[in-house]
Amino acid sequence: MIPVVALVGRPNVGKSTLFNRLTRTRDALVADFPGLTRDRKYGRAFLAGYEFIVVDTGGIDGSEEGIETKMAEQSLAAIEEADVVLFMTDARAGMTAADLAIAQHLRSRDKVTFVVANKVDGIDADSACGEFWSLGLGEVYQMAAAQGRGVTNMIDYALTPYAEAMGIVRELDEEGEQVEREYTEEEAEAEQERLQNLPIKLAIIGKPNVGKSTLINRILGEERVVVYDEPGTTRDSIYIPMSREGREYVLIDTAGVRRRSKVNEVIEKFSVIKTLKAVEDANVVLLVIDAREGIAEQDLGLLGFTLNAGRALVIAINKWDGIDQKVKDRVKSELDRRLGFIDFARIHFISALHGTGVGHLYESIEEAYDSATRRVSTSMLTRVMQMSQDDHQPPLVNGRRVKLKYAHAGGYNPPIVVIHGNQVKKLPDSYKRYMMNYFRRSLKVVGTPIQLRFHEGA
Ligand code: GDP
Ligand code: GDP
Repeated sequence: MIPVVALVGRPNVGKSTLFNRLTRTRDALVADFPGLTRDRKYGRAFLAGYEFIVVDTGGIDGSEEGIETKMAEQSLAAIEEADVVLFMTDARAGMTAADLAIAQHLRSRDKVTFVVANKVDGIDADSACGEFWSLGLGEVYQMAAAQGRGVTNMIDYALTPYAEAMGIVRELDEEGEQVEREYTEEEAEAEQERLQNLPIKLAIIGKPNVGKSTLINRILGEERVVVYDEPGTTRDSIYIPMSREGREYVLIDTAGVRRRSKVNEVIEKFSVIKTLKAVEDANVVLLVIDAREGIAEQDLGLLGFTLNAGRALVIAINKWDGIDQKVKDRVKSELDRRLGFIDFARIHFISALHGTGVGHLYESIEEAYDSATRRVSTSMLTRVMQMSQDDHQPPLVNGRRVKLKYAHAGGYNPPIVVIHGNQVKKLPDSYKRYMMNYFRRSLKVVGTPIQLRFHEGA
């Protein structure tokens, strides 16, 4: 399972600077959508050979009395759910009362915590960091997040013991950077065959109260017993095997587990981290949106994460019953305006309560999964690449025309197309996007993003 790293600390110590550095996207085209990166507090990161979820817990100001009441609910939940906490302090400002209060809280939670003294650039780091030992949380790691100094080492220190305990292997290239999983043609074929013989893992996600539990009960056709107080499962979804018309599914239920203990009440309602883990583990994501609420920032955040993870996607606009035409029109125009850029995902208007439209969801889910795992030969991919090049020539780079040579499959779910050629890494994003759309149209790929990777030379 993917590790969760929470960045904790008082305001202004450099949490969002570190967050941005950890999550800055690479040349994955699916990340290139408007309006989703603003105010992002949850992200996927690759560093030191590890993939992990990073959470910026935001404005914790422990200097005020009663830290529990002052901490934002989600921040508290994030600490509870994290595997590793990076407790950030400011080496220039020195230790403050807020740092002490936060440290006390972290000690009481018995969390795996690493103290980071940030902003050590241009100061005598060793003497500035000494006092942070008295936080009582062990060694103090020096970092300059703005410059990127100490960041990779820090992640290495923090995640290696966890990864070893969990049996997570890291993939590194010679420079110590994480290798993107990319298959040779033979490996891609084996992966495709494996995926086609496994159940479809379908994560049902959405904000609280959009109707996820109602939908799952409808799908399962029975009232399911809610699980209470299952130890250690607060942050984990429930996995429900199911089969339907000859196809095997595993539903990943992000709404099901409720816990009553006082401390965890905030988690009880909704957990972003649980949802993100479910997305990582799924083949297809069913994003449920409440028609009566319209499209909220949180919906867009979940959507952005799903796109970045490369998952196949179906959108269900729920509670479509009993609303008048004016509301329906408003929802539809809002969908066009805010989700218009996700042109690959099917949108369904359903009522989980009455069952209307629920049956048709499977068609789109299966279509999306099949698109995400359909094998396409090298000759076909090369032909489509060639056609796209003939229709619209690649631009000149340094006075020479970029030359595309051939294409092959580099993975599935999401489908990865590896393009070989000269100067291909220098293609502008607009041309890459054009190619991606060309592949999508020509191969009739519906319900999944496509990723393009570029290899210099043959
Ligand atoms: P947050 O409130 O904890 O998220 O803190 P920010 O990431 O917004 O950073 C607060 C300020 O500290 C900003 O002006 C950053 O540019 C600055 N900052 C962050 N990291 C460093 C660093 O490593 N060195 C220096 N000198 N400044 C930093
Ligand atoms: P969850 O938090 O996403 O699991 O949401 P629930 O399934 O618990 O549903 C929240 C509320 O919305 C409940 O009162 C449901 O009865 C109601 N609800 C769910 N689906 C529908 C629907 O299709 N139509 C209407 N009118 N209400 C619904």
